[in-house]
Amino acid sequence: MLDLAQSRLCRLFCLFILSALGTTGCGNSYKVSKLKQYRLAIAAGSTPEFVTGFQTLIKDYNGFAGSTVLTFESSPADANSSIIITKGLVTSNAEGLGTGKVGLGQWLSETNVENPVTVIPGQSAKETIRYSMRVEFDYDYMTTKTHYELQKLFFHEVGHGLELNHNLTDVHDVMYPDVGVGETKDFDAYFTYVRNYMADQ
Ligand SMILES: [Zn+2]
Repeated sequence: MLDLAQSRLCRLFCLFILSALGTTGCGNSYKVSKLKQYRLAIAAGSTPEFVTGFQTLIKDYNGFAGSTVLTFESSPADANSSIIITKGLVTSNAEGLGTGKVGLGQWLSETNVENPVTVIPGQSAKETIRYSMRVEFDYDYMTTKTHYELQKLFFHEVGHGLELNHNLTDVHDVMYPDVGVGETKDFDAYFTYVRNYMADQ
């Protein structure tokens, strides 16, 4: 298990939204609407088993959160977020980063921010943020691990999609970089964050 520790480190793509969330320089209010509707579909690597598996993981997620945070779409055309299942993700050399060890899962933000081209003096500028994500998982890991291990990995990667960063100090935190360290994870603390995050509209 330990020799896999490094490979489990998932890459972070820290694409923070740096847009102004307060007011513009000229004093006009800046209206921001946040559309946190995560509709996920398996965009690559789908099998009937994965469809059932991810439906269950999403049901688990919403159950812990106490509301519908994620929805599963059978067709990618109906989704705004992608699940990718890749054989050999752990050792793939995608994008030429690091040692070529991507890890068991990774997350990419696909959040889209729409801004008006011009701000009309005296009127509010409106910004719409459509939250979405792309999460990618290793085929071998997803077909051999226990349901609890899959929850740990899935919740971790989705956590990035909900703007959570790594917690480097607590191995029981879902957002500790290595999901294999810390046999049990503190789902309660994690989903407290999720509830607060979703409430911030
Ligand atoms: Zn991570």
